[in-house]
Amino acid sequence: MSTPSTIQIHSETRHRFHIWTSGCQMNKDDSERIARSLVRDGHVPVSDPDRASVVILNGCSVRDNSDRKVWGRIGALGARKRRCGDVLIALTGCSAAATPEEIAPHLKWLDVVFPARDLRPLQELLAEQPGPITDDWDGFLPAELPGAGGVSRCVTAIHGCDRRCTFCIVPFRRGREESRPVAEILREIEQKADEGAREITLLGQIINKYGDDLDGPHTLATLLERVDTERSVPRIRFLTAHPRNLDSDLAAAMGRLDTVCEELNLPVQSGDDEVLRRMGRGYDTAFFRERIVMLRHHVPGIAISTDIIVGFPGETEAQFENTLSLLREIQFDVVHVAAFSARHGTVAAKWGDTMEPAEKLHRLHAVETAQKSIAAELNAHLVGATEEVLFEELRESPVAGAAPRWMGRTRSNKLVFCPEDGAIAAGDIRPIAITEATAWSLRGRPVRAPQTQVVR
Ligand code: SF4
Repeated sequence: MSTPSTIQIHSETRHRFHIWTSGCQMNKDDSERIARSLVRDGHVPVSDPDRASVVILNGCSVRDNSDRKVWGRIGALGARKRRCGDVLIALTGCSAAATPEEIAPHLKWLDVVFPARDLRPLQELLAEQPGPITDDWDGFLPAELPGAGGVSRCVTAIHGCDRRCTFCIVPFRRGREESRPVAEILREIEQKADEGAREITLLGQIINKYGDDLDGPHTLATLLERVDTERSVPRIRFLTAHPRNLDSDLAAAMGRLDTVCEELNLPVQSGDDEVLRRMGRGYDTAFFRERIVMLRHHVPGIAISTDIIVGFPGETEAQFENTLSLLREIQFDVVHVAAFSARHGTVAAKWGDTMEPAEKLHRLHAVETAQKSIAAELNAHLVGATEEVLFEELRESPVAGAAPRWMGRTRSNKLVFCPEDGAIAAGDIRPIAITEATAWSLRGRPVRAPQTQVVR
């Protein structure tokens, strides 16, 4: 829930702040919200942490080494603090909810630890501590607000997660599910649209549980309906759906609503029923397959991505082969694969992370190799087609000396590169003729026919 700023700031307590963010879209969205709140309070964002009087670390805990990165950053900032004493250090995000034993060694450097949903402890600290900015601006240029001005933006719809997948630390760090009121979400979408957003991704650990905890018949499908009716942005996506909660109402809404893109991330995690049972996912592969059939029925041509964990405790070679078979059978457009990482406090951590790192890496590469040929084949079918592309930014070419090219995305979320022709601008939605495809991206050219339409 966003926290309205009510803290009184005096000119001598205005700070330069820098937010370091790691992890998922949700953390990025939280950082943006924190930054906006601090700017409303009179503080100034800076891109260089060395110039900041307060550094806010918004850390991720999904993997063991994600937390380690955060502890490393605190250590480096602590060294600066010991040398010069000129920096306040704040910790938020999943890392802020680490166990007392994990946080204890770093507490001596931390000025405040606060949950991303409640900024008051940070606001109060900054209101009390003198900052370096006075009414006489020192010519220091504020950094851009994180996310501001982007074509594709995120809005959190539901916080937390009530499930307990045995490998996952998120419920311990993000707390119980809490849906934001519809009006608040619509307001944020409109605000981001006013700033230039053309595409909004609604976020939640289980986005399709949106509304379960609200009074009244609220669901993700009804929320999409409302957002579609408002027409603030031409494109809506949502992330991340759980197979267990994917019903035909939602699939039908996706198929029916113009602004909702034909794309879905549906993590399966494993293609083996016994592994899924031990993961505590709440479905088996038959159920998952049936959800895919239902989705493809309601949303023909939908692009589906998934997440896979390899090397789950006790995963046998045969069980891993079942995962590869499922990938070949379903033909996902994109697969995000990660090696199992034991997280202290989870059930799976007690089962031991016994697989040799080399074997995990071997399985990870096997998934990547299988997926590369599947994606290449799926994308090859798009050559010769015309796709609606939303352009995001002009990017340098990876080829030295080559001209920059425009980067955009299809409604199915595929990356498209187009040559710079002077006529494309960020935020344009154009029909693009696809001329080349690889496993990872498409290339194309604007369709020059008389009916070419530019929606701005
Ligand atoms: S659904 Fe499972 S994997 Fe996703 S956040 Fe909740 S516990 Fe973690």
